[in-house]
Amino acid sequence: MVLGWMKIIIGIVYVLFWNLYAGLLTMLNMAGPGTFVVLFYHGIPAQHRGRFARQMDVLLRCATPVRADFAGPIERGVRYVAVTFDDGFQSFADTALPELEKRGIPSTVFVPTAYMGKKPGWVSAAHGKGCNESVMSREQIIELASHPLVSVQSHGHRHVRLAGLGDAALGLELAQSKKILEALLGCTVTQVAFPFGSFNRQSLDSAARAGYERAFGILPGGGPCERGDLYMGRIFAQAQDARIDFKLKIAGAYRWLPYAVMIKNTLRRGFTSVLRAASAGTQRAPDQV
Ligand SMILES: [Zn+2]
Repeated sequence: MVLGWMKIIIGIVYVLFWNLYAGLLTMLNMAGPGTFVVLFYHGIPAQHRGRFARQMDVLLRCATPVRADFAGPIERGVRYVAVTFDDGFQSFADTALPELEKRGIPSTVFVPTAYMGKKPGWVSAAHGKGCNESVMSREQIIELASHPLVSVQSHGHRHVRLAGLGDAALGLELAQSKKILEALLGCTVTQVAFPFGSFNRQSLDSAARAGYERAFGILPGGGPCERGDLYMGRIFAQAQDARIDFKLKIAGAYRWLPYAVMIKNTLRRGFTSVLRAASAGTQRAPDQV
């Protein structure tokens, strides 16, 4: 809770500085830089449909919705936002899609192909608890792919962490899931969202070899529009987000998060190694006495 509010406060400060910068440019008769943010949701529970609908209203008021494969150009002063959904959950079709349709907002659904029509086994494996959701069936995914506002793309095959996998396993996850979807949908699949946001250089190379043109992570920042690279960051959103938190997300106010995570992990590793060294010293002490 405290960390959540700290994140929001830092986001507000970030936006204030950003707006100050944009204001100075306006005074000089220059438009501020544009932004491109990709949101990612998982499921939208039926009881949160109203909150999700209000978020989409805010999105329409504050930003320009685009598809996740948007490649610019990013016009100065314009906020572009893409809405994506990981895991291909049933609640996307039941709850989110009707609200997106009403507003004409495009979306992308990332599907783990081994789980079509099944319960998401990776949720219990990762968190030790069940999940009320099911992944949409093959028939539903085929129907969804013909919707003019929806794009169906890959979320790997078995929804496993890609960082650390060898070439053969990476091929299965990335190339095979692409082939399965393409055979099912009769169109080219060009985007992948890495399960758990887990990837490394080898995963990116494998994604490029498999023919993906864009690969999404789960932390904001970076992307083809900025660096001409395959990788594109995203920011996690859920219908339960506080209104201000959601506004900060679509304003791109959390671009510093990857650095915060990096610092946190470095500190944690340092702290762990200090504890290990202290513990080893304590165990050796009797021999040295
Ligand atoms: Zn996932």
